[in-house]
Amino acid sequence: MQANSAAAQSSGRPSLSVDEAQKAILEAVSPIDGWIKVPVRDALGRVLAEDLVAPFNVPAHDNSAMDGYALRAMDLAAQGDSRLAVVGSAFAGVPFSGLVGKGQAVRIMTGAVLPRGADCIVVQELARAEGAEVIIPPGQRLGQNIRRAGEDLAQGAVALPLGKRLGAAELGLIASLGIAEVKVYRRLRVAFFSTGDEIASIGSPLAPGQIYDSNRYILFGVLRQLDCELLDMGVIPDQPAALEGALLDAAASADVILTSGGVSVGEADFIKALLLKLGDVAFWKINIKPGRPMAFGKIGNTLLFGLPGNPVAVMVTYYQFVLDALLALMGVTPLPERPLLEAECTGRIRKLPGRREFIRASLQRGGEGWKVVPTGAQGSGVLRSMSEANCFIVLPEASADIEAGAVVKVQLFEGFA
Ligand code: AMP
Ligand code: MG
Repeated sequence: MQANSAAAQSSGRPSLSVDEAQKAILEAVSPIDGWIKVPVRDALGRVLAEDLVAPFNVPAHDNSAMDGYALRAMDLAAQGDSRLAVVGSAFAGVPFSGLVGKGQAVRIMTGAVLPRGADCIVVQELARAEGAEVIIPPGQRLGQNIRRAGEDLAQGAVALPLGKRLGAAELGLIASLGIAEVKVYRRLRVAFFSTGDEIASIGSPLAPGQIYDSNRYILFGVLRQLDCELLDMGVIPDQPAALEGALLDAAASADVILTSGGVSVGEADFIKALLLKLGDVAFWKINIKPGRPMAFGKIGNTLLFGLPGNPVAVMVTYYQFVLDALLALMGVTPLPERPLLEAECTGRIRKLPGRREFIRASLQRGGEGWKVVPTGAQGSGVLRSMSEANCFIVLPEASADIEAGAVVKVQLFEGFA
């Protein structure tokens, strides 16, 4: 698989660009098998596993786009006003049952079915009612203000394509078609655990030198937003037997395994040996900061991401490498665009050329447009600056120091879900 060819690029720890790593990952994933039928409300956030076809025209009938009068365009004089007899009314849900004949008009409301015989709607602001008659000025066009049957969606057309992730608009559209149940992909099963002898779970007291586990809570948070089935396997100590057991358990029950920690240079060796024994895994050194080391591959059919240990690096690598892979596994197609905006940076940023850097920052209104403010200490363990941020400043590989006032590229967190 791709992970291996990446591994084969050079011995030991190949260095990959962010783009190369993203490409290799996406080439290694395809949608999971398995779907279920769910009621429309339960489909929120799920991914459509079929093309949803319109069972009828939307709108179902020709109808009025305005409040006004329905009439026959040919009855109107080319010059000067025309006087028509008002013979009835049509409301949304209560159609006019007769025929609009020569010299006649029907009072009509928005959404009401176009009465038989009528071919033109004149908005009420232009018309003048006079007793049982209405006076229409010249200049009206055949077909004006009429919404045609099937204009939004023709019967038999694909209303929503396979691979669409269903949000509020899609739920509304499905309901408008009278469809009560849809076929969606089953939930993705994701197992995750933290590694490290120094990592303690909340609830247990900290021994000297220990720290509390953040990463499992970060992963819980991002995976919940994707509506995955979660398998939280806790903290696993840096012991080969414990790690082997955890990895085998996870591989037996999950589609994806996310681990954190244990992939940096100093620690990687025994994990590397273990992962190579259990599966087909490459250890990457990616030109990214934070988050340079990462393992990627498969144990059996289960995809494995060995993320770095630092909490901010976990978030950066999750957003840049894991999220789209999970979406692709969930069946989402096409994958969402991740726009890069431009904004003026308010502060100086130190950078050495070489890696693509992701700086936590806050995009704010400033003067004419937008400005972006780095949110304090950028150490890869500093979660507070992540929490204060609403975006990353993305500094390209070749970039050196950024001076205050420079225009930089910005990637918003909004949409990372
Ligand atoms: P490692 O890659 O295992 O060497 O971890 C790198 C750094 O991240 C070390 O300072 C770890 O203590 C820290 N770290 C690893 N895992 C976690 C975690 N689950 N929560 C908070 N910090 C962690
Ligand atoms: Mg560790």
